[in-house]
Amino acid sequence: MFCYHCQEAKKNVACDTTGICGKKADVSSLHDLLTYTLKGLAFFTTRAEAFDLVNDKTHRFIAKALYSMVTNVNFTAAEFVALIDESMRRRESIKQQFLAAYELKQGAAFSEPLPEEARWLSEQNTLDAFIEKGEQEGVQKALEWLDPDVHGLQECLLYAVKGLGAMAVHNLHLGIENQSHYQFMQDALAFTLNKDNSTDQVMEQLLHCGQLGLDAMQQFEQHNAERFGQPEPTTVHLDSWSNPAILVSGHDLQDIEDLLIQTQGTGVDVYTHGEALSAHAYPALKKYFNLAGNYGGAWQDQKTEFPKFNGPILVTTNSIQQPKKTYLQKIFSTGMVGWPDVPHIADRKPGQRKDFSALIDIAKNSEAPTPLSETSVTTGYGHQALQALVEPVATMIKEDKIKRVLVMAGTDGRHKERRYFTQLAEALPQNVLILTAGDNKYRFNQLDMGEIEGIPRVLDAGQSTGFCHIIEFLKSLQQQLHLDSLNALPLSFDLAWYEQKTILMMLALFSLDCRNLRIGPTLPPFFTENILHQLDARFQFKGIGEVEADLEAMLAGQ
Ligand code: SF4
Repeated sequence: MFCYHCQEAKKNVACDTTGICGKKADVSSLHDLLTYTLKGLAFFTTRAEAFDLVNDKTHRFIAKALYSMVTNVNFTAAEFVALIDESMRRRESIKQQFLAAYELKQGAAFSEPLPEEARWLSEQNTLDAFIEKGEQEGVQKALEWLDPDVHGLQECLLYAVKGLGAMAVHNLHLGIENQSHYQFMQDALAFTLNKDNSTDQVMEQLLHCGQLGLDAMQQFEQHNAERFGQPEPTTVHLDSWSNPAILVSGHDLQDIEDLLIQTQGTGVDVYTHGEALSAHAYPALKKYFNLAGNYGGAWQDQKTEFPKFNGPILVTTNSIQQPKKTYLQKIFSTGMVGWPDVPHIADRKPGQRKDFSALIDIAKNSEAPTPLSETSVTTGYGHQALQALVEPVATMIKEDKIKRVLVMAGTDGRHKERRYFTQLAEALPQNVLILTAGDNKYRFNQLDMGEIEGIPRVLDAGQSTGFCHIIEFLKSLQQQLHLDSLNALPLSFDLAWYEQKTILMMLALFSLDCRNLRIGPTLPPFFTENILHQLDARFQFKGIGEVEADLEAMLAGQ
């Protein structure tokens, strides 16, 4: 296997025997094969679109297949075999229809030469042949055909497109579909088949992907606000009560609502974990008394925290790790999440709620959670709450009461170097305001950071998609201060990356031409030295360094 899909890639190069995340070599190879079949499918969908031959089911299938490969989502080999099979069947069907339509229109045989990789893909017409060929040649061919800079950027594009696929599926569950997002995913997949792409061309695709990623985040957040009310600044308890309970992790607020409705009056409480913390800020969810609190920290702590929870655990959209024996009998997946032998809660039928009775039955016979903490945190600085702060923050910037705004968003992980984000937060002068979204906040949201004239110094915009509210806030601040660009604000970005979500944030910032961007704890391994030089020259993009030196540079506007 060869996977450098996330920040925890072995030695920051690649996992090559088994994934640090628990991904086995067979699943990794199936990811490679699924990616290749999707490229082949996209090659034909992007051409067949002109003849109106691509239906919504294919668009949705491609988004779902991309999402399935996102880090820590699904580890079940059989599901990837089924996706590869479906991908090839769809490709063959669309290819035949396209060739027939083309011949009819042109009155001649289709003669457009296929790119070398697409021809190779098209020749593998059975799953067995494809797997055999793919195992031997797939990744190696991709490496041979491309120059390392283009290859690295294209890998970044593929990861970002997988993140966009995840967003498209999250939005689809909310009833939102965006044809331009579907189109871009397929264009980008087909684009990577071209042998002679230049770094500039790939960068153009990456910037476009960043714009669409931000757009998808906005749609997701807007729908959640319409459905569950505008998030409100809310204090969330991290301690636990005496009732037995269910723990829910992931991004799906509808799952949380279904669970809250079904547990009402049963004596079973519901706690959030990781990024689900933001659920407490939504009026339509916080009204349930049995939404008891948030248990534990970010996703990577689950192996120590889940056993202490005592009750059943539901993982809704991502971030599952290999379950330990101590809670294997109590963990459930739903949506795209999957782990072999972990029971899966089926999707909701139209107009109905998901059936969580299996979890509720276990919870009723479970002990209450073992307390982990007695503190609390504040979340809920979504669109409305942040916009309400534009004027006072602008005034404080003018009066030099706020010296700098630091965006410390992104995803947490296991690396011990991630303590950088805690140390940096502790070292910041009192006149620096922190904006955050995603679960990197667990590195500093329990510190006593104080306030600046009544405004908390840490403003948590919620789960990673709340990053769009941070950008909207910064744009409003720019307008309020009559500045030419975001770069004219006293602003720094210090992102924690683990997987595609932060990669989309990074690309969104590139698309907005934002400067002074640091990322850590390591630089993405798919960026070559050359690419890093180019990104530094264009965006002042760099890896995190020592806390003291970074702090000094940031305060100096670098
Ligand atoms: Fe390794 Fe990350 Fe890939 Fe898992 S997703 S195999 S940890 S690089």
